[in-house]
Amino acid sequence: FVSFITAFLLAYEPAKRLARLNIDLNSALMGASMLLEIVDKPATEPDDSDKPALALTQAQIEFRDVTFAYRPDQPVLKQMNFIAEPGKVTALVGPSGGGKSTILSLLLRFYEADEGAVLIDEQVISDYSRSSLRQQTAYVGQDVYLFRGTVRENIAFGKPGATDEEIAAAAEAACAHDFITGFPLGYETPVGEHGTQLSGGQRQRIAIARALIKDAPIILLDEATAALDSESEKYVQEAMARLCKGRTTIVIAHRLHTIMHADTILVVENGIIVESGRHDDLLQKNGRYANFFRLQQREADKATPLRAKADG
Ligand code: ADP
Ligand code: MG
Repeated sequence: FVSFITAFLLAYEPAKRLARLNIDLNSALMGASMLLEIVDKPATEPDDSDKPALALTQAQIEFRDVTFAYRPDQPVLKQMNFIAEPGKVTALVGPSGGGKSTILSLLLRFYEADEGAVLIDEQVISDYSRSSLRQQTAYVGQDVYLFRGTVRENIAFGKPGATDEEIAAAAEAACAHDFITGFPLGYETPVGEHGTQLSGGQRQRIAIARALIKDAPIILLDEATAALDSESEKYVQEAMARLCKGRTTIVIAHRLHTIMHADTILVVENGIIVESGRHDDLLQKNGRYANFFRLQQREADKATPLRAKADG
């Protein structure tokens, strides 16, 4: 029964519809170790459970000459090459529609490269089972989806069978423990549909706790574009820093703080990486990134004039 539900959710339920379903987080579902809120996903995935399990050493990610199109005549990624260094943060920036989310979708094998290959530790990921790939990857998306269930259950989803101590430790590291214990019901507080209303920042920290408890060597983040209040922002940043530490991270970055502190920035435009490097070097280059950064800065100034002044 558990595997039926898992297979159903994984294979036949597109993520966006899944998010609208009102599912009770019961013990059957708790057994499923899976990704919840997903980039963009086809309705079906051919079974590949007979393939060997992917084993990681350093968790180095490489796109090697990757070409990909959703529709035959419209290439979205064009012979893309990059390496995300083990244990480092690689930030993807660039205009909407450039192909950033598609990069994450290919990495999670929601789609397969048409040409070239996605490799992890020099292994072509399509030679291994999807489930083994996804077990080693934690994804935190823009819209944090919480199941109808308790805070505890929502965090434990990252690691079926997690103990109370592990759950509290993950929440602590995600800067979530204090607000959770501030609720009258603490970790037993019902959330999700019809549950306690949480702020955007609180939901994000629960998602980060869920990713932390999974303890995967690869972290994929799609930062929310919506502005948080400055207190939430500070906690989310702190939580994200703990999540990324020592793990190979690829983040679709919208926040100046994340972009500026990334180990490498890849500027993605029209399916091509047009620039790459560190923040200071790219600023000095005064090219696409410098333009993009100034634009972001102006938007940030508009959104939060006081904080932008205080920071700068
Ligand atoms: P970004 O994340 O940088 O905004 P995306 O990877 O989401 O860019 O999109 C890249 C291009 O692929 C866009 O032109 C978008 O319209 C197209 N695209 C994204 N998802 C799909 C899909 N499921 N089917 C068809 N086209 C898609
Ligand atoms: Mg996107």
